[in-house]
Amino acid sequence: MRRQSAAATALWISNRVKLLIRSKAVSPLRSATALQIVMKLENRLALITGGGRGIGRAIAIAFAREGASVAVVARTLKQVRAVAKDIKKEFPVDALPLKCDVRNSESVSDAFHNFRRHFGRGPDIVVNNAGVAKSELFVKTDERFWEEHLNTNLGGTFRCTHAALPEMLERGWGRIINIASIAGKTGAPYISAYAASKHGVLGLTRSLAMEVAAQGITVNAICPGYVDTDMTSQGIENIVAKTGKSARQALKMLEQMSPQNRLVTAEEVAALAVLLASEDGRGINGQAINVDGGTVLF
Ligand code: NDP
Repeated sequence: MRRQSAAATALWISNRVKLLIRSKAVSPLRSATALQIVMKLENRLALITGGGRGIGRAIAIAFAREGASVAVVARTLKQVRAVAKDIKKEFPVDALPLKCDVRNSESVSDAFHNFRRHFGRGPDIVVNNAGVAKSELFVKTDERFWEEHLNTNLGGTFRCTHAALPEMLERGWGRIINIASIAGKTGAPYISAYAASKHGVLGLTRSLAMEVAAQGITVNAICPGYVDTDMTSQGIENIVAKTGKSARQALKMLEQMSPQNRLVTAEEVAALAVLLASEDGRGINGQAINVDGGTVLF
């Protein structure tokens, strides 16, 4: 190959990878790996709750693409196994599926125990993503409904952070990334339990960030708008059932909440999670960053 500029070399690599994809020698999922010269999360260990589908799955894949080995955690073993299998097939990293209910401290403790047994140490990065979102009038919000939201969305974040932090403090390096919501910054009808849990996640994020700031650990939250996942599909089904609107109308309604007139993708949320998890993100701490196309402007 003739001597050429860095830009020309990058173009050559890019064209070469496109050719390989077209010839099916490299899958589109793997192509990003081929293009990476410096991987942002090389040799890092990450634990992602709610990693079996949606946003958590996208984050697990994005982390693996950047060189991290990951544990994919949720209650549905079939889903976490499938994600771990996909990752191991596509990337030269390890992926561990773990069954865990973040509402239960024993289950969380077992998951962290199994993580340490498998990888030899605790995670460098924890993504608290497991969540539930149901809507109900406040007057119909009973203790059980309230408890389900608070105990999963906020309690799960507390438990997994609590299980990971001591080792991060010992090592002097760590990343806690909490997937909150724009509902953590604003209120809306029918979501008092969900919004309360996500407001709580932001309070926890900001306070802990201050507590560990000088010890090499950052704690941040990501606040997505409506994301194209099963959770939003269920929301659409709910709107259809309660209002008689068609699914298309319900989807349009959610899209129009964003000035970009669209749902956010799970991959867009994952891209921010990669930045927060990386060395490049070390100056970002105690933040609650919206990925919402501008839906919430303060
Ligand atoms: P999904 O419903 O697609 O995925 C939720 C994940 O959380 C699943 O893997 C689920 O697995 C897991 N989970 C739920 N409860 C528990 C539990 N008790 N223990 C362990 N895992 C659990 O949702 P999304 O991917 O859309 O949402 C992910 C996060 O993003 C949530 O915290 C949500 O609040 C937040 N978010 C989502 C938005 C959206 O529009 N979709 C917008 C803003 C924020 P399993 O059921 O097998 O346990």
